Parts: sequence; structure tokens; C-alpha cells
Amino acid sequence: MRKKILAANWKMHKTPAETIAFVEALKKLLPQNNPVEIIIAPPFTSLESAAKAVKDTPYLLAAQNMHWETSGAFTGEISAAMLKAVGCTAVLIGHSERRRLFGETDEQIHKKMKAALSEGLRAIFCVGETLQEREARKMPLVLEKQLTAGLKGLSGGRLSHVIIAYEPVWAIGTGKVATAQEAEAAQKHIRKIIWDHFGMASASHIPILYGGSVKPDNFSEIAAQPNVDGALVGGASLDPKSFIEILGQMK
Ligand code: PEP
Repeated sequence: MRKKILAANWKMHKTPAETIAFVEALKKLLPQNNPVEIIIAPPFTSLESAAKAVKDTPYLLAAQNMHWETSGAFTGEISAAMLKAVGCTAVLIGHSERRRLFGETDEQIHKKMKAALSEGLRAIFCVGETLQEREARKMPLVLEKQLTAGLKGLSGGRLSHVIIAYEPVWAIGTGKVATAQEAEAAQKHIRKIIWDHFGMASASHIPILYGGSVKPDNFSEIAAQPNVDGALVGGASLDPKSFIEILGQMK
């Protein structure tokens, strides 16, 4: 049985003080014996406060991005070791906003995947097709290309530290959520690609999250699909109450 995961991507939101307030509210709202793994990805400047706030809780901390080099003259960049030192155990890699707005390529994403995993971080690897690609029936091809490029050369052992987030670009921040059938079809395809390249054990263990306009009132049917192991939530993760309501949809 794969563990369910609920991850919050705060994007460019929340100061350190707002981060602490969120975690304190979450502690009060979270049901006892919650079996779902909770991962929070605040902006870099709030990671240190978040690390202190989540100490003695089961919540895990992720960064939203990193550079593949370990150190050097890379103004404005952050390494995997720096993230680990501040208390992160995971990092988002290849989010569609990074691909689309900041020009990240499959090759750069691959270097980030290798660097994150070598440092012992878990990589939340984001993949997904644009609306144009979906309409041209290219979703399966796009996912295969992104997955094979990002995961190239990784061993099965390394793959056990990877979480895949299927985030159709047309559903991110648009209010347009995939249907349960669309999410399941894409995520089943992702699992098949992992099976073809890494074998049955890796395919059956790897968590695959859905992301794209998840809200408290639209996730229960998607969450119940056999290849959906949780969600990566943007906008609706900023409010602890709606984040917990989404958790309530994951049975
Ligand atoms: C995201 O940023 O990963 C995301 C899924 O955003 P939203 O939930 O706001 O669509």
C-alpha cells in the first residue's frame, strides 16, 4: 500500500511570520492519527522559520526549487546541501511555472533531479501537458518525454526518493480541474512508463500526486482513483482550513 501524500506549494506567498501562523493553525486543525504525509513548500525566505515551527510535528518541509551545482558563482541560486542544512527533506523539481516562466529545460531538470537525490533529498518531480498538447492528443507523448528525460540514468534505489506530481498545465491556477477520469488516465500512463523503464517494483511503489486547481469541493472523486496517491496544492494550500478540508477528501 502506498502512503498518501498532501503537499502544499505556496509559490511566492507567506512571510516567515505568516508561515509560523499557518503551521500553528495546522497543528490545531489536523485530526489526531492523521495517516497522510503532509509536506509544506514555503518560499526560500520562510524555510528557516518553517523548520522551527514543524519541529516535533510529522510535517515535512520542501523547497520550491534548487540549483544543480553544489556551490559557486551562481548569483541568486540555492544548492541542495543548503536546503538540507535549513531542514528541508524534499524539493519541487520542474514545476510548470519554472518550465514556462523561467525557461527550465528537461536537461536542467534532469541535473536538478540528480543533484537533489545525491544529496538525499526527496524530489517532487512535476510533469504535465499544456492545453495545446492535450488538444493535439499528445499528453501520453509529452509525459513520456518529460519522465524519461528527468529520470534518465537513475537507479531503482534512487527512484524510491521520487514523488511524481502530475500537473496538467491547463489546470494550474486556472480553476479548471481535470476530471477524475482524465487524472486517472494520465496517472495510470505515468505508472506504466515507470514500469517500462524501471520495472514493476518501482512502478507499484512510486507515489503519483495530482495537482491543478485542487479545492476542498473538487478533490474527493479524483482522490479515490487507484493511481492517485494524493495532491500537490497551490492556491488552496494557503489557507490552513481549506488545506485540511482537502485532506478530509482523501480517504
Ligand atoms: C501548483 O502550483 O502546483 C498548483 C497545483 O497550483 P493550483 O493548485 O493553484 O492550481
